Amino acid sequence: MASNPSLVMRILSASVAVSNRASNIIRNVLTKGDLGIVEKGKNDLQTEADRSAQRCIVASLHKQFPNVAIFGEEQLDPQETIPKDFIELNFDEEVLKHTCPEYLKDTKDEDVVIWVDPLDGTAEFTQGFLDHVTVLIGISVKGNAVAGVVHQPWFNFEKPGLPLGRCIWGVIGLGAFGFERETPPPNKVIVTTSRSHSDRMVTEAVEACNPDEVVRVGGAGHKVLLLIEGKVHAYVFASKGCKKWDTCAPEAILHGVGGTLTDFHGIRMNYSADVQRKNTGGVLATVADHGKFLGCIPEHIRDAMDKSSPAPELDFKGVVVCGGADLEKAKQNNGQVSAGKNPSPEENAESKSSSDKVPNDVNTKL
Ligand code: AMP
Ligand code: MG
Ligand code: MG
Repeated sequence: MASNPSLVMRILSASVAVSNRASNIIRNVLTKGDLGIVEKGKNDLQTEADRSAQRCIVASLHKQFPNVAIFGEEQLDPQETIPKDFIELNFDEEVLKHTCPEYLKDTKDEDVVIWVDPLDGTAEFTQGFLDHVTVLIGISVKGNAVAGVVHQPWFNFEKPGLPLGRCIWGVIGLGAFGFERETPPPNKVIVTTSRSHSDRMVTEAVEACNPDEVVRVGGAGHKVLLLIEGKVHAYVFASKGCKKWDTCAPEAILHGVGGTLTDFHGIRMNYSADVQRKNTGGVLATVADHGKFLGCIPEHIRDAMDKSSPAPELDFKGVVVCGGADLEKAKQNNGQVSAGKNPSPEENAESKSSSDKVPNDVNTKL
């Protein structure tokens, strides 16, 4: 164990342990069979699994870190008694073996906001697309998504004999763990987007990237997993429907492996406590070539998406974080950009490090 682990590493370690517990709770709800579906709004569902998982995560983390702000997706009665077996107070030892990146070492309680999506992909959960479901715990520091957990309770559910479920976690400046990374197929463009919250603009933005293949699946967490595993090149969502709890953990993990998540203006989003919950600038996430994908988006779609409140400046102390300058570069190329054929992550890392002088662009130091 790293001696005297920092606050961020302790929160992350606790979050991994808590996500394992929440994942069990979610699977138990399905086993019992009564999903208790409530309609929160148009095309927006909540189930007993969402409610119970949030109770588990928020109560457990609050007990361990009483002075840290925690925001969960679901609006629940704060007076409600939480069952004793919902409280997880253990730390994941594996996380604590790692040394905290320098820029996070002095983080204080008041710098942190935790964004919790207890069950991402609820629509798909209710329809039996179980591998689309994830539990998301995102850790932001001074408004920047820096660390997170994406837990997939039904990973391998169609492969009996293999372990069920997996937990992926990561930190910008440290990397991401719990999955196997592969190079995305070269000479091909594969784009993922929503399957249950699509409309004409969502489809038009995807088509503008000239994809050879479109993968429509549920959940922001699941789609970013497809990115980091090298199964798709870009997640394109020209909609205002995603919220901060959908993107905080996936963004941190994606940036942890040198990818990029921004709005449709190339802005890395602000995760401070006082920001609006909706990502009204849309979501564009890539493993490489972010500028090229941004450049594919037609002006009228970009205009329809708000400019997000940007992540406040944070001194990453030598760790370089993607995003920000890409849109400007794409615009300078003046229409010549197209998603085209992506380089491998290795080629991308090379081309990125050769453009080190561009501020806020390029990959993280792993
Ligand atoms: P999807 O890709 O459709 O699974 O969406 C990713 C996340 O954003 C999920 O948590 C959805 O519930 C949320 N989301 C996206 N669009 C909407 C919308 N129009 N209304 C409510 N939630 C949405
Ligand atoms: Mg969600
Ligand atoms: Mg949810």
